[in-house]
Amino acid sequence: MPVMEDDIVIIDDTADIEDAATRSQPGWRVLVVDDDPTVHSITRFALEDFLFEGRRLSFLSAYSGAEARLILADQPDIAVVLLDVVMESDDAGLKVAEYIRKDLGNRFIRIILRTGQPGQAPERDVILHYDINDYKAKNELTAQKLFTAVLASLRAYNQIAALEMSRHGLEQILAASSTLYEKRSVAQFVDGVVLQIRSLIQDAQGALLCAVSGRHFDGDLDEVRVVAGVAPFVFRPGESIRATLPEAVCQEIAETLSRQESFFADDRCIIFFKTVDHAASVVYLCGHRPLSPLDRKLLEVFCSKVAIGFDNAHLFEQISYEKTHDPVTGLLNRSAFIDALNGRPDPGAGADDSAVCVLDFDRFRDVNDSLGFEAGDRFLAALAARISAAVTDPDVAARLGGDQFVVLKSGGREAVELWVRDLLARISAPLRLDGQEIIPSVAIGVAMLGWTRRAEDLIADADRAMRGAKWMGGGRFGFAAARPARADGSRLLLVTELIHAIQREEFELFYQPIVRTLDGRLDGFEALIRWRHPTRGLLAPGAFIGIVEETGLILPLGNWVMDRAARQLADWERTIPGSRDLQVSVNVSARQFMGHDLTGEVAAVLDRTRLDPRRLKLEITESLIMNDPDCAERSLRDLKSLGVQLALDDFGTGYSSLSYLDRFPFDVLKIDRSFVKAMLHRHETMSVVRAICTLAANLGMEVVGEGVEAVPEVEALRTLGCRWSQGYLFGQPVPADRARDLILRMHAPVS
Ligand code: C2E
Ligand code: MG
Ligand code: MG
Repeated sequence: MPVMEDDIVIIDDTADIEDAATRSQPGWRVLVVDDDPTVHSITRFALEDFLFEGRRLSFLSAYSGAEARLILADQPDIAVVLLDVVMESDDAGLKVAEYIRKDLGNRFIRIILRTGQPGQAPERDVILHYDINDYKAKNELTAQKLFTAVLASLRAYNQIAALEMSRHGLEQILAASSTLYEKRSVAQFVDGVVLQIRSLIQDAQGALLCAVSGRHFDGDLDEVRVVAGVAPFVFRPGESIRATLPEAVCQEIAETLSRQESFFADDRCIIFFKTVDHAASVVYLCGHRPLSPLDRKLLEVFCSKVAIGFDNAHLFEQISYEKTHDPVTGLLNRSAFIDALNGRPDPGAGADDSAVCVLDFDRFRDVNDSLGFEAGDRFLAALAARISAAVTDPDVAARLGGDQFVVLKSGGREAVELWVRDLLARISAPLRLDGQEIIPSVAIGVAMLGWTRRAEDLIADADRAMRGAKWMGGGRFGFAAARPARADGSRLLLVTELIHAIQREEFELFYQPIVRTLDGRLDGFEALIRWRHPTRGLLAPGAFIGIVEETGLILPLGNWVMDRAARQLADWERTIPGSRDLQVSVNVSARQFMGHDLTGEVAAVLDRTRLDPRRLKLEITESLIMNDPDCAERSLRDLKSLGVQLALDDFGTGYSSLSYLDRFPFDVLKIDRSFVKAMLHRHETMSVVRAICTLAANLGMEVVGEGVEAVPEVEALRTLGCRWSQGYLFGQPVPADRARDLILRMHAPVS
């Protein structure tokens, strides 16, 4: 059996440049199967100069069907088989074709059948069935004809392979994006992106992900920063690309960013994409082979997919910012301030000489009323800037809410007093707002920390001192009297009153409508507790729920709430036709949930009222879950097994991280009202809300927007696909009889 070299690349001294390039490329593999050795040599000779897409042919030879099968099984990258039909048997060639398609399952190889006698043409359905490219009688195979037949087959092979690669590439992209979406931080995410790109374009030597820090590129290369990368680049994340890349490449990146279009050169490329947040970004790849149009397309598809995940990852970080910062002023928010205060080191033997200063502005309402909320926000931001300018590390400033701010100031009583006087002067400098001059005026109350005490108490003390100062006229300050060491008597009184109130059933449930965002149809209510106090009138939960929880009175009260709400729903169902699908949401607090058989209680309520469990929704706040996620997960699954619905309340304000979300069996996610409030004014908040909605959809949860007070807010929520809305726009919490009127008016029965 003549053994010939596979490699037919002729090394020619006079080889031109094209030959040099061609030599480095692997040849198209062609298997010649024929029992007649002369056919082999004729074929090689005829196709000696063959060139397709810059690549020559590389021949393999088999002299029988059996030998061909062995080679084929071993060499999956053969492109074309020139196959003799009659060899060791009359149909040995056809058996090889069958083997290729059926046994090997190889759909790519192109088959050209050759036979000695014209009469031995295979049946038409054989040609179809085995996907035979061409059929030729041997005497037909002149050099020219052979050339054309192989060329046509290679073209077909190339197309099929490209399709397959693109299918494979897309599959890879899908798989990559789903693993990427699990990444919880931007850093993890971008590292993942760069690695995935490397695996798409196998031979790339380096990959670098860069983004424009100011979103839009205005020609300033210093604003283009490296986000992530793999070797051989050496970089620090966040530094300008100038520090990492040669100037010529930086210029190419600048051009790509200006044109907003990807750039491809032979050995490097720059893929342009924008995140959903519109931040312009590029991926720079280098050291790879020339990219085929398919590779280019795949890279672009991948980057655009990645953009979505990028925003998800951003969301995780933003949420943690939002949960500690006030969106309007950028200062810390109340809970972050309390954390900062409580987290202070123990003052040891001596008392802490720091002070909590509460600031409250005068006539802020007038600003809002005359210039509008938007100007009001700018006014607050300007005041916040004045306050922060006066606060240096380690002191902190925060916004308590409305026009109230708070500062933790160290240095002892005298220094604090000097500082407060100075602050009063700084703040009352005139300010221009929408063409009007305003002279801000503020009252400040100061409470000295002394022996470490609860942050809430300190704020309350400073607040009282501030009110005293305000009462005396604007622009003043006052110090709080030191607190008596004993527990406060009023608290004791309240506890006694609460116990009586539970016995005398002084509580009542109010119902706030929850409507379908799409069309305002009433789909249910949230039950909110009220206390009809014998002397102080109707009290909202803020005035007592804290103490009810601390004292454990929440256990009987919580059960009463559930029972009441369930009975009410059963009553409406009986008396209002078509109200069967209304739902009621009940708030559950930590004490009820942890270390207590809430599931048993809920089961008992369902049993007593015969309510369809799917109509009862339990609202649980996220901070509660995070105290003990493992225990919470178990309790939630128990509850879920009863068939009730679970809602995550006040989402975005607590301590939970989104990464925990898919772990708990929530059906509904309630976006906290602070987000709904801020989303139309702050671009960042809007993208957070948008991403929350997307994420919820991905996790199969419905979303409720809380605290909807204005039409543009519902419109925005509608666009974001938020299923339900709740807020004063659709109705305040009302007593049961008024809720009944609402059902009659707003609840269209399902047809
Ligand atoms: P939540 O569960 O987030 O209830 C929504 C609160 O937002 C209610 O305050 C409601 O009146 C208020 N709200 C609704 N729409 C708007 C709006 O458009 N604008 C504004 N500014 N506020 C709106 P409420 O009734 O004072 O309840 C406060 C919190 O007390 C509730 O917050 C919930 O956490 C708790 N709570 C209420 N009832 C119960 C109860 O029966 N059990 C327990 N454990 N907690 C309860
Ligand atoms: Mg609630
Ligand atoms: Mg809420």
